[in-house]
Amino acid sequence: MATVLVEGDGAIKAVSRWFRAASGKPLEKIAPGTIVFGRFVAEDGQEEEVVVCLRGPERVEVNCHGGRAAAVRILHALTSAGCREMSWHDWVRADSLDPIAAEARIALADAPTLRTAAVLLDQFRGALRLELEETVGLLQSQHTGNAKSEATDRLARLSHRATLGMHLTTPWRVVIAGRPNVGKSSLINALLGYPRSIVYDNPGTTRDVLTARTALDGWPVELVDTAGLGEGSDALEVAGVALARKHLASADLVVLVLDRSGPWSREDQRLVEEFASALRVHNKCDLPLAEPAGRPDGIATSALHGEGVELLAKRISSALVPCAPKPGDAVPFTRRQIDAIDAILALVRDENSPYAALRLRELAVGES
Ligand code: GDP
Repeated sequence: MATVLVEGDGAIKAVSRWFRAASGKPLEKIAPGTIVFGRFVAEDGQEEEVVVCLRGPERVEVNCHGGRAAAVRILHALTSAGCREMSWHDWVRADSLDPIAAEARIALADAPTLRTAAVLLDQFRGALRLELEETVGLLQSQHTGNAKSEATDRLARLSHRATLGMHLTTPWRVVIAGRPNVGKSSLINALLGYPRSIVYDNPGTTRDVLTARTALDGWPVELVDTAGLGEGSDALEVAGVALARKHLASADLVVLVLDRSGPWSREDQRLVEEFASALRVHNKCDLPLAEPAGRPDGIATSALHGEGVELLAKRISSALVPCAPKPGDAVPFTRRQIDAIDAILALVRDENSPYAALRLRELAVGES
């Protein structure tokens, strides 16, 4: 379904020019709050079935079929009647006096999971705004010493939550790396709960980069299945390895998969050293453990039978979100907010509290 909102003092007149209610009653005679079924008849005679809702004396909603064609036809008719087209993002910004609430409304449309939506809903209801306003109060306080240090702590806490905030609408990228045939694709399938990439008993099968989105503990995650990090023998494999390294560089987290059933090799050791901060997984734990000497610690999994996969999912989520926000906690979630908070924190540390308070107020309520 698509909704075209028409707003302003000529809203009802503009819609009634094209709208024919099934009841035959003119739109002007229909009480506000009423939902009316009918047809939208454009100048060229083309018709759309629509549901019109009178949201107020100057606000009319035209709900039509979701495909682009119907909405575009209605927009054309309305603009030819003098209406000005506006994106819903711009409308939300213009409609709200509270800039953070407006940004939260926009971000909520892109929240991939209920958990991220809950955090954004808290911000829509004022969690971040309140935190900023309270911090303004601290910066303007006469009891400078303690108040300033509490303001600094609060701003630093907000800045710390920026990574989480930016991922409320964009999934974290978790790259699964390791030598060919250690079970990377199988592990992704096990984490997803359904088969995604091609699993084939032949080293180097996963030459391309495949991605799959899922939620771990309610946090949105894009799992990236890379080509095996071996010394590729053909051009395709070499290209795959190069692409894998590119994805590794931009990963939020690397999961390094090692084969527990094979001997510990120099190549394994090299990968462990190269990806020292990666989450280590020793896969194929259903098979007998090969010579354990030299093998570092890590999570034992069987991608084939599911052992350890739940633990791995938990470890991934707690590596990505080590400290989850509590209900009602303030979390900045747009680049504008995060950049401003960092700049204000620097001002406070530079002993420029009055200007910091001014900028903070501007961020909270959109005025100076
Ligand atoms: P990749 O090249 O690292 O992506 O490895 P694959 O996921 O394609 O797996 C390579 C082979 O190892 C396939 O035959 C899988 O069935 C097998 N395999 C993967 N995980 C396990 C496991 O946990 N246990 C056993 N026994 N075999 C596995």
